[in-house]
Amino acid sequence: MNQYKKISLKPKKDESLKRFHPWVFSGAIASLPDNIEEGDVVEVYAHDNTFLGVGHYQIGTIAVRILSFQEREIDASFFEERLREAYQMRDSIGLVRPDNNTYRLVHGEGDMLAGLIIDIYGGLAVVQAHSIGMHVSRHLIAAALKVVLDNSIQHVYYKSEGTLPFKAPINPEDSFLLGGESDLAKVAIENNLNFKIDWEKGQKTGFFIDQRENRSLLEAYSKNRSVLNMFCYTGGFSAYAMRGGAKEVVGVDSSAKAVMIADENIKLNFGDDERYSSSSDDAFKFLKEMPNDAYDLIVLDPPAFAKHRGAVRNALQGYKKLNLAAFEKVSKGGIIFTFSCSQVISREQFRLAVFSAAAISGRKVKILHQLSQPADHPINIYHPEGEYLKGLVLQVS
Ligand code: SAH
Repeated sequence: MNQYKKISLKPKKDESLKRFHPWVFSGAIASLPDNIEEGDVVEVYAHDNTFLGVGHYQIGTIAVRILSFQEREIDASFFEERLREAYQMRDSIGLVRPDNNTYRLVHGEGDMLAGLIIDIYGGLAVVQAHSIGMHVSRHLIAAALKVVLDNSIQHVYYKSEGTLPFKAPINPEDSFLLGGESDLAKVAIENNLNFKIDWEKGQKTGFFIDQRENRSLLEAYSKNRSVLNMFCYTGGFSAYAMRGGAKEVVGVDSSAKAVMIADENIKLNFGDDERYSSSSDDAFKFLKEMPNDAYDLIVLDPPAFAKHRGAVRNALQGYKKLNLAAFEKVSKGGIIFTFSCSQVISREQFRLAVFSAAAISGRKVKILHQLSQPADHPINIYHPEGEYLKGLVLQVS
């Protein structure tokens, strides 16, 4: 058995861990061992010396991310066990199919692997560390992926330059941990639609996998509608709208590079289809300048307006302004799919911002669906912070 360093908590600071919340805040710690290093595996004990959990230590507000509430080693077999559990869940609910080779295999705390994200694109796994402990473990994780996913994974790309604390004494260079040959297909298949993925330079791991189910719902709403896909990124919602029989699809994003990839993705699936067009433009400007009644289905999927608690007020104003612009322009009887992926904004707060926008517009608005993140982005019930994506489907008369 490995002798891990021990951290003791101050009196009464053990309650949240006893309820299986996987974070130890720095203020809860009584004392740190002298020789502790960021990324170390540590054992956490209550003031009365009761064992609470084992996890990764790093400097910061969240000092320890718990990986197990049982005493155990954090070794190759630990990662294999957790990855196997994660894979079996996805496989058992039908997410792993030849016509859907794109899914999130590991969603941090939701899969009891705090600090780790793994997205699968066919034979490629993109691994993203959000904690130094996971950075230190990256080779163990790549090896475990190979064991658990057997021959279905040939390439493992590590993409953590943008997700690790820049002050940490590490050098997380983005690079392949396994494979990486030039034959690697840069196309992901989601519900039988093909998407080019730029995992090296793209946002997140290259694609917004979390909108898969919401895109399917949009497909069902698209027939004979004029669809405006605002914040289209690489064209996820646009492709589903095209397949759903939309009369017209317009994708808008401020990133010219994203719009270019979106255009390629539409071409990849539908060839030169005259129903589709795109524009590289600012959302607020586009919505302000477009005529009334031009669209009867508008998707609003902006980036997180609030990345921390201090930004919540301004973000709520941003959601209100954005939704108001859409309420003012959408045609009578039209549909709006509106989202927020800001983790610090609650479902209620988001709904209230949309409500305020509706009230100012004076239009009648019905909530048809309340949307969330899909099952491959699970929320650990003891870690409600894992819930981040919320959406509303509205009918506006
Ligand atoms: N709906 C997309 C994901 C959207 S991510 C999908 O399903 O894949 C958010 C996008 O908003 C990014 O592509 C970013 O370039 C774009 N964006 C950010 N600010 C913007 C603005 N002011 N106007 C238009 N697009 C913006």
